[in-house]
Amino acid sequence: MSHSLSPRLHNAAFAALGLDYVYVPLPVRAEDVGAAVKGLAALGFRGANVTIPHKGAVIPFLDGISEDARLAEAVNTITVDGSRLRGHNTDVEGFRGALVAVTGDTLAGQPALILGAGGAARAAALALARLGCALTIVNRTPAAAQRLAALMTAGLPGVSCGWLALSDLTERDVARQRVVVNATSLGMAGEGKVPALLADNVTAGQVVFDAVYASRPTDFLVAAQAGGATVVDGSTMLLAQAAEAFSLWTGLPAPREVMRHAVQR
Ligand code: NAP
Repeated sequence: MSHSLSPRLHNAAFAALGLDYVYVPLPVRAEDVGAAVKGLAALGFRGANVTIPHKGAVIPFLDGISEDARLAEAVNTITVDGSRLRGHNTDVEGFRGALVAVTGDTLAGQPALILGAGGAARAAALALARLGCALTIVNRTPAAAQRLAALMTAGLPGVSCGWLALSDLTERDVARQRVVVNATSLGMAGEGKVPALLADNVTAGQVVFDAVYASRPTDFLVAAQAGGATVVDGSTMLLAQAAEAFSLWTGLPAPREVMRHAVQR
């Protein structure tokens, strides 16, 4: 979903700043990832975004990756500097930026629960861990939750990160959180819903973040808002990660309002 909006918001931003850049969507087959990445410099690209399912596959073909990309084991943005290709993960900063816009600097030592253990969950976990939160990863497939928790504790010394199978989650687990994140595809059109156990048990004082991008508030955020929680939606994260990528490519601050309007059009 996010990648289909990216041309619109980046091209609007380039036009607003009078930059001679254009953003084009280019589907790449799995077997062509290496050739496509290596071709970026030869073709004069300034950079690229990488989306599912290639975020991990591009890494061996890059000359270096950022700390966030290394810890997340995923690259969503590539910069080209001469012949040198560097990978970044702007989802981490996108998540952090969207969250701290509502929480400010108040999360150190606070408990946070992440539903999901895929790419979005990894970005959320890194951002929350760096903000000082004590994490619990909850996932349908427990082994993936366990693996993400191990990745966090090994990669970020001193971080507290536990895990739970979704089937073992209780109301009490939800109620004790300061931040509750949906980082699964639940809530996207055509997918299932975030379990009522989460949606119906968030309360005032909690911050509920849904990484799913949708043109209307997701059912999860509607329920959270009804429970009195402060909510952050996936479009805020999408814009924040795009703004970060824009700055990496151009060296300029992103025109965020232009980008926001382009997405809402
Ligand atoms: P992913 O790597 O494929 O991970 C999907 C996650 O969803 C896994 O944890 C999976 O659990 C879980 N899941 C899927 N179906 C489920 C179900 N029926 N019940 C319970 N859990 C289920 O995907 P991703 O890249 O993390 O993306 C997840 C969501 O975040 C998508 O909606 C994506 O669009 C969004 N996203 C938004 C932004 C943004 O900027 N707003 C950025 C990145 C991603 P299992 O391990 O059990 O399969």
